Amino acid sequence: MPLSVDRPRSDLLVMFGASGDLAKKKLFPAIYRLERRGLLGIPVIGVALDDWTDDDLRNHARASIAEQGEEWDDDAFERLAANLRYVSGDYTDPATFEKLRAAAGPAEHPIFHFAIPPSMFATVADGIAGVGLADGARLVIEKPFGRDHDSAVELNDTLHQHFPESAIFRIDHFVGKEALRSLLVTRFANAIVEPLWNRNVVSAVKITMAEAFGVEDRGAFYDSVGAMRDVMQNHLLQMVALLAMEQPVKEDARSLRDEKAKVLEACRPVDPTHFVRGQYDGYLEVPGVRPGSDTETYAAFRLDIDCPRWSGVPFFLRAGKALERTVTEMTIEFKAPPRPMWIPEHSHLPHNSIRIEVKPENFAALTWLRKEPGDEMMPTAVTLAPAPDERADIGPEPYELLIEEAMTGDPTLFAREDSVLESWRVVDRILDEYPEVQRYSQGSWGPRRAADLVRHHGGWPEEPPGEHQ
Ligand code: NDP
Repeated sequence: MPLSVDRPRSDLLVMFGASGDLAKKKLFPAIYRLERRGLLGIPVIGVALDDWTDDDLRNHARASIAEQGEEWDDDAFERLAANLRYVSGDYTDPATFEKLRAAAGPAEHPIFHFAIPPSMFATVADGIAGVGLADGARLVIEKPFGRDHDSAVELNDTLHQHFPESAIFRIDHFVGKEALRSLLVTRFANAIVEPLWNRNVVSAVKITMAEAFGVEDRGAFYDSVGAMRDVMQNHLLQMVALLAMEQPVKEDARSLRDEKAKVLEACRPVDPTHFVRGQYDGYLEVPGVRPGSDTETYAAFRLDIDCPRWSGVPFFLRAGKALERTVTEMTIEFKAPPRPMWIPEHSHLPHNSIRIEVKPENFAALTWLRKEPGDEMMPTAVTLAPAPDERADIGPEPYELLIEEAMTGDPTLFAREDSVLESWRVVDRILDEYPEVQRYSQGSWGPRRAADLVRHHGGWPEEPPGEHQ
């Protein structure tokens, strides 16, 4: 979308949390890629506690970018490095923001990326406003946005004291993934998909976000958050919104965000009896995890959406760490057609399904039934999918894309206030009334009870029931 007077391009990027994990793994590589493509070209100020110099920050940025295996372009890095400045200070100390104001120079439309612990979001927003840097600025706020519905309301109120909603970009990097952006084309451009995407023919929808690794060196952070707040309330419900929404009536940010919000508004609060929590064996020994912690590293629940398109179709969501493999996928399963008269019993037959892999690859596959060659008229399943060399997730990295969108002021891919609050409303009850965590072995598919959740709905995709433990 062209920039307008109302949406000037950001002229300064301030990265709070410049010494943190997110900055190292995602933000420095993202801004380097933008610089390489000629899309950055503005001063960047890193802020953190460490007593660093500008050169320390440049060295840190160089090492972070190299560590992520980025293709090296000396000119691009030198341009970026020349624009990098560092401000050290504690966010609870107003002097930090005075230093920041001096470093910001003549910038009129700074963008502030909050790559900091969520407990600091309100303090930093107050600090920015306290030194007069809020006017004309934008905020990129990391997840989780609040700890529950009420704290999200409170955080919105605090931010809105200094920043209008149009200046707040709640980032969910999942929404920047190519597979989710292409979902709208898969759904609405295919005449053989759109008419089938509803309760008439869909029997269940299953969404998985599995990671084959544990919490690694982020024990203290993860232990205070857990799978529900880390990924279910945000990433997985955003996927539900994109997968279940109606076609936006216009090609603009408001229409798309309206449709996503309506889906979340139509979701029933999750019933605690449809909720399973797990914790992998060995989690309690991870440095930073509280002794005896009951934080979940796995969560699964059933979601019901009370709208004409989806009424009665269960959505099953699960996410976990230390599982058998790393995969993020959505499977849409279709009801069985009326039994063909020449088949005596067809309960064991596979059903049609569409599987959309978001990670590690990006493609949609269709499970189709065909006649097994030979005499018998017995249907068997084949999967129709793009060739392996057409599945790579190319294009901009999610953070690269989203930072660029935020700098131009385009909110399309960011979560709006109402969507975030609705997402919390959906899970608020199970954040209070939660079942005990079930142990599961590392490398398994999570706790056995998660299999019970889908027992009468065909099980989890690609996972024989015996694999749960
Ligand atoms: P880290 O704990 O690694 O980094 C936090 C940063 O904040 C550090 O730079 C730290 O500085 C700084 N900081 C903390 N307290 C203060 C303070 N009082 N004054 C000044 N600086 C302070 O966190 P992450 O980078 O992992 O996460 C940051 C945000 O990004 C969180 O909201 C998280 O949920 C989100 N996120 C993280 C992802 C990840 O993969 N890491 C993925 C998606 C979102 P110092 O190091 O000097 O203490």
